[in-house]
Amino acid sequence: MRKNTTKPKKMAKIIDGKAISSEIREEIAEKVREYNAKTGKLPGLAVVIVGENPASQVYVRNKKKACEQIGFNSWVYEMPEETTQEELNALIDKLNDDSAVHGILVQLPLPKHLDEEQVILRIKPEKDVDAFHPANVGRITIGNPKFLPCTPAGIMELLHRSNIEISGKECVVIGRSNIVGKPMALLLLAENGTVTVCHSKTHDLKEVCKRADILVVAIGKADFVTADMVKEGAVVIDVGMNRNAEGKLTGDVDFKSVSEVASYITPVPGGVGPMTITMLLQNTLRAAEE
Ligand code: NAP
Repeated sequence: MRKNTTKPKKMAKIIDGKAISSEIREEIAEKVREYNAKTGKLPGLAVVIVGENPASQVYVRNKKKACEQIGFNSWVYEMPEETTQEELNALIDKLNDDSAVHGILVQLPLPKHLDEEQVILRIKPEKDVDAFHPANVGRITIGNPKFLPCTPAGIMELLHRSNIEISGKECVVIGRSNIVGKPMALLLLAENGTVTVCHSKTHDLKEVCKRADILVVAIGKADFVTADMVKEGAVVIDVGMNRNAEGKLTGDVDFKSVSEVASYITPVPGGVGPMTITMLLQNTLRAAEE
């Protein structure tokens, strides 16, 4: 009988964002008990949502649920679509002055007639648990952050808790948004990664990606990164959240083919997604403790 000489394929280890997220939430819950025993208070997060964007409503519901599960106070302010800038500003001022509110989050995007930049600037930097205020962005840039932006901070936790070395590694980030790509690059740089940021004008994206020991993909295009763009043994972090034709949640990375090349990979769902709210809880606790 002829021997089967085909080598079994080595599959990437899956970084389980759900499990890591629960581990961190347990740690936060313990710190909440300590904080409560010391101060008699609870960390409090206020979430403001304007209009009826269905995706935003789901995010806000999830944030409220996460707060309740962990023992935080939480308040959701639902404002109608036709809310004026003055009304929204007045609510932010009230929350800025409320000592029970440690973190304020205004769910973006806002309806077109409202000015997001004005809103970001109005939230006191010490309550800006999304880390969007220029004062907080500046602090991240100079390497002295108060709060870390939630999605990139969640990715750093995934790397740390999977014992993945960053120092000296080639890190490629695809995407340069203010909420994911840019802060991600800064956090990797702060840990001594050699960082390249790619975007829609990058030439020879495939060749740049192939250099990466750590590849973070945040584009918003389903299955964009394929196995031929990934170096053997690379760590691949998929931030993308897209709906495919069947309405199923899918990432920016072609999970099936890339798993056969990478050493570690995050799935979608169950990778980066669960970490984002966990990091929001961590920032709110930090705001309360300070
Ligand atoms: P975004 O603001 O739309 O930015 C997308 C970035 O991708 C841009 O910098 C764009 O380049 C770049 N890009 C687009 N097409 C490209 C191409 N063909 N080649 C190279 N670069 C390309 O998106 P985002 O807010 O960063 O979000 C990205 C994805 O992550 C989305 O799927 C979003 O839903 C998801 N997300 C997930 C979480 C989570 O918790 N898991 C959190 C936030 C976002 P230009 O700058 O040149 O246009």
